[in-house]
Amino acid sequence: MTETDPSAVPDSPDAWRALAAEWATTSGVHWRRHTELVQAAATHLGAAPHDPHTLAWALGVLALAVRLEGMELPDAAPVVAALTAAAERLDGEPCAHADHPYLTDFDDKALDWTFRPEEMALRVVGVGLPLDDPGRWRCPHNVAGFVRAAAEAVFPGTFDDVPVRAPAGIGRGLKFIADVVYDHPYGDPYETLVDNARELLEAARDDTPELPGLVVVNCALLWYAVSERVDSVEVLDEIIAAHEAASRRCLEAPACDHAAHPDLSDFEEYRRDAELMLTPGGRRAYRWRQRSLGGLPLEAWTCRDNSGVEAEIALEELREARANLAAEDG
Ligand SMILES: [Zn+2]
Ligand SMILES: [Zn+2]
Repeated sequence: MTETDPSAVPDSPDAWRALAAEWATTSGVHWRRHTELVQAAATHLGAAPHDPHTLAWALGVLALAVRLEGMELPDAAPVVAALTAAAERLDGEPCAHADHPYLTDFDDKALDWTFRPEEMALRVVGVGLPLDDPGRWRCPHNVAGFVRAAAEAVFPGTFDDVPVRAPAGIGRGLKFIADVVYDHPYGDPYETLVDNARELLEAARDDTPELPGLVVVNCALLWYAVSERVDSVEVLDEIIAAHEAASRRCLEAPACDHAAHPDLSDFEEYRRDAELMLTPGGRRAYRWRQRSLGGLPLEAWTCRDNSGVEAEIALEELREARANLAAEDG
């Protein structure tokens, strides 16, 4: 694909189409280019916040944010600052609309927009299908809403009142561990067990917000770890060390007063929600859905007190399995 000049405002339908195509596809090895495109869109948007193209630039940032998979944009500060300033300048007199597309065109259950942001950006600048309801789309409150949604997408935790898309891989719901949980491992199950234990150990040592989610992931793998399928004391030792670290870290948290915590008895029931807990964007997406559709509050999922209890329960089973294995070996 020919690279567009991101510092220029496209001056023809073809130039817009070329830019939108880049928004939709730039990822992976083109990470430097991805950063460049996000920064350029934020700069254009900040330079002319009342320009009719403002919404298109915000949608461009939203399109590019898909590639972050729920993680924060590296060096997000200038982008977030430009978006925040634009959103503030747009919010003015109240309008007559009952609602706006930035809220109505988001599917709260699927946690995704009902349109493709790069395609909508083209419609906004008059390339492609005309907008269904241009008044509502071009309303400054709607534009400000999408600008805030773009800021939240590149740096979860920036704005509280906008929908958050679930990371794109979420539909598969912990696919990377499900084959072990369901006892059809494709690769080396020891590798899956040890990798996830090491991630848990690291999260406990560094005290990251991913710790409760990783406790859940390791709990899902527990039945396999303590089954006769694992006959390596070394593997069990790694898993035990990780759970000990997690339990120690969680013990630092005060006792909670949550009415309920996630039920981890049926992996199929909780796998998609559990995966949302592993990224900042995923957690914000979960919270958005919970607010609109109900369910356990996010705090019950990320509860340190409960994670400590789960880790302790797992430890009992793990130590017993290790003792049995050592006795057989001896
Ligand atoms: Zn309006
Ligand atoms: Zn709790």
